[in-house]
Amino acid sequence: MPKKEFQSESKRLLDLMINSIYTNKDIFLRELISNASDALDKLYYRSLTDDKISINRDDLEINIEFDKDKRLLTITDNGCGMTKEELETNLGTIAKSGSLAFKENMSQEEKTSIIGQFGVGFYSAFMVSDHIEVLSRSVDCDEAYVWESDGADGYTIKKGKKKDIGTTIKLSIKDNTDEFSYDKYLDEYELKTLVKKYSDYISFPIKMECTHHELKDEEKHEYEDHKEIETLNSMVPIWKKKKDEVSDEDYENFYMDKFSDYDKPMRVITSSVEGKVSYKSLLFIPSHAPYDYYTQEYEKGLALYSNGVLIMEKCADLLPDYFSFVKGVVDSEDLPLNISRELLQESNGVKLIAKNIEGKIRKELEEMMKENREEYISFFKTFGVQLKYGVYNNFGQDKDKLKDLVLFYSSKHEKLISLKEYVEEMKESQEAIYYASGSSIEKIRALPQVEQVLDKEFDILYLTDYVDEFCITALQSYEDKKFVNVSDGDLDLESDEEKEEVKKINEDYSDLLKEMCAEIDEVKEVKFSKKLKTHPVCLTTKGDVSIEMQKVFDAMPNNMGIKAETILEINEKHPISDKLKELYESDKEEFKKYTKILYSEARIIAGLPIDNPTEISKLICDALAK
Ligand code: ADP
Repeated sequence: MPKKEFQSESKRLLDLMINSIYTNKDIFLRELISNASDALDKLYYRSLTDDKISINRDDLEINIEFDKDKRLLTITDNGCGMTKEELETNLGTIAKSGSLAFKENMSQEEKTSIIGQFGVGFYSAFMVSDHIEVLSRSVDCDEAYVWESDGADGYTIKKGKKKDIGTTIKLSIKDNTDEFSYDKYLDEYELKTLVKKYSDYISFPIKMECTHHELKDEEKHEYEDHKEIETLNSMVPIWKKKKDEVSDEDYENFYMDKFSDYDKPMRVITSSVEGKVSYKSLLFIPSHAPYDYYTQEYEKGLALYSNGVLIMEKCADLLPDYFSFVKGVVDSEDLPLNISRELLQESNGVKLIAKNIEGKIRKELEEMMKENREEYISFFKTFGVQLKYGVYNNFGQDKDKLKDLVLFYSSKHEKLISLKEYVEEMKESQEAIYYASGSSIEKIRALPQVEQVLDKEFDILYLTDYVDEFCITALQSYEDKKFVNVSDGDLDLESDEEKEEVKKINEDYSDLLKEMCAEIDEVKEVKFSKKLKTHPVCLTTKGDVSIEMQKVFDAMPNNMGIKAETILEINEKHPISDKLKELYESDKEEFKKYTKILYSEARIIAGLPIDNPTEISKLICDALAK
């Protein structure tokens, strides 16, 4: 039978996994047991909603067998099984994302990080076996099929024989090497220990035939071995155990197994609530974003159990979008088992739990921010965008819940600070919270508009994320202090005297300015100003849309043509002002050319494209050559 190739990314990944000397090979067992448990959950749930399937939950189990001589380890479940197509799609592809960064000569860390981006799952079994056979019969099909593979060079699928629904995974365990003894996966005591360590909480029995030494004759010290099927796990879900019975490591192992993460979670949040709706929850804040977090494919939600029985793998209604990165489990006896998922999501019970959980996560983050700023900053760098998005999403309805969780870069402290911290340090003469935006801190720092505000020794929040300004605009103010963009045309920082002076100049030269404005279609106004210290020109805005926001709108696929209302400001103290005045009188053609050049310069500073670079380049050279 011709072998089918793994999809190419999967193949490379598999190579990586097999050849990278990933230290913890043991985890393959928990991965396989966890898949088996999921299959049992799925079958049981189907039986609740499908009259044609009748199942007794007590019959559902996972079996482990080993054969030292044949070097075989077998894991069997009587769960939902897989059809031929499912074997193909589930076991023929690992990497669901097409954008993994493979490169030559990767370091061990890089390899582990790539593997870690989506969890190892079934493929981890290749760390310990050189041949794998999966025999499966789906609840939806009368035929059984066998999937077989020796690793990276491909797999075959053919018809098989299996009486009952479920899956049997047969691993041919590798021969021992100088570095590693694979025999441990064929040893009763070792297997028992591994199940206990990683899979104790699994809610179905994990059974194995175990040997008991029984004293036959006390005097002669004679023992007799007899075999007995034992259940290796306690079956108590980890969230039902008392907190002091569970170690940090247990929680971490549970998280890594259940949510396929190579890294420990950043935080574990447990709660047990008695009340109108009683429930237990076990939540995790991951330490890094899942590989698909910022894609359409990512699905938020918490696993929902009714007294230990899984009713929904990802109940989205339990989490607000801004906490969509949280993983975890909720178990409530007060939720009915056999109502439809749609009705369940509508239920007041779920709504109440969701509300409590939202508060609990928020409190945890607030505490982290206060007590461990370094950890919070690391969290914020990973998931802060989601919180900022939450501030302006849904017309800002959640902004008050989130305003104290967002951080921005402060020009004064040169690090991320909260709005509260900004306001507490405001100078007495300062009325507003100033911010400036651009694509990087360095670029913002170099903006002409920033100079004037920094001169007053006011702190400025430097916004570099595309969501930042939308977030600030939704907030409008913080503790009655308005947010003001330093690129706002009317900053109102000059003294009355200065204002008077500027007003007069602009009146005196109104014809000149009008003519400049007429020469540039896009600007609403051209004016002389005193706010610029050394720079000749800058672009400011009036109204709600800033230049940075316009850039975001421009990048949207369904761009609605929203534009910032821009003003070209010319530094009145710069010699270019006199030149303009002179040219206006003596050479109108030249005056127009200068106008174009100045406007283009202002656009470059603002990070905006120039439509006619060739023309502008020629104009500049002509002027230089004079
Ligand atoms: P994950 O479990 O993270 O989805 P895996 O690579 O471990 O990734 O498994 C891929 C898929 O194969 C599972 O999502 C499941 O649909 C299917 N699968 C694996 N093991 C079993 C099993 N014992 N019974 C039924 N389906 C299984």
